[in-house]
Amino acid sequence: MSTRMRILVVEDEVKTADYLRKGLSESGFVVDVAHHGEDGLHQAMTEYYDLIVLDVQLPGRDGWSILQSLRRAGRQAPVLFLTASDTVADRVKGLDLGADDYLVKPFAFTELLARVRSILRRGPTRQPEVLRVRDLELDLPHHKAARAGQRLDLTPKEFALLSLLARRMGEVLSRTLIAELVWEMHFDSDTNVVDVAVRRLRSKVDDPFPLKLIRTVRGVGYVLDGN
Ligand code: CA
Repeated sequence: MSTRMRILVVEDEVKTADYLRKGLSESGFVVDVAHHGEDGLHQAMTEYYDLIVLDVQLPGRDGWSILQSLRRAGRQAPVLFLTASDTVADRVKGLDLGADDYLVKPFAFTELLARVRSILRRGPTRQPEVLRVRDLELDLPHHKAARAGQRLDLTPKEFALLSLLARRMGEVLSRTLIAELVWEMHFDSDTNVVDVAVRRLRSKVDDPFPLKLIRTVRGVGYVLDGN
């Protein structure tokens, strides 16, 4: 490993989480830990990770739902599930939802490490590190955006919003879905948080350039046009 890889551990049992943090850090990884389902999803949506170790039973939001939301938002970081029960149904469910592997608790750390390394050896994560749409360039690990070679000065939320639109280029995203994935909130359709945020984003991403990328689909939502 030339650069240190980043792993997110989402695990509510403090002892297990500490044990994983310590072991993975000692093995050379940069490790972040979330103890709550909502925090885990938020962390996974806003930061870049090479791999996510995801417990199934979590307060707030379970591992299945986190994985589902991540994949729906186009986040492709590999996921290693930790399950308490070794049932075929659980395993199939995890793999169906797009998990890369699973481990049944209790497990030995050496086994977890072997699984982690094996997933990482499958090559770079399927999520490209740099997203390009026409002359727009998004450097995901570094949270940097540029258009036509000019650096765009975006807030973290604006970057999250733009990268969501870019990952799902060509797909019309509803305000509700955007609010859920970027702000993790469920809100009434009369709230205009998303519209305000898109307007601000446009002033940076589209207004200074002749080619407009973000399109409004009246009554539905927004889409980033790729061609
Ligand atoms: Ca748990």
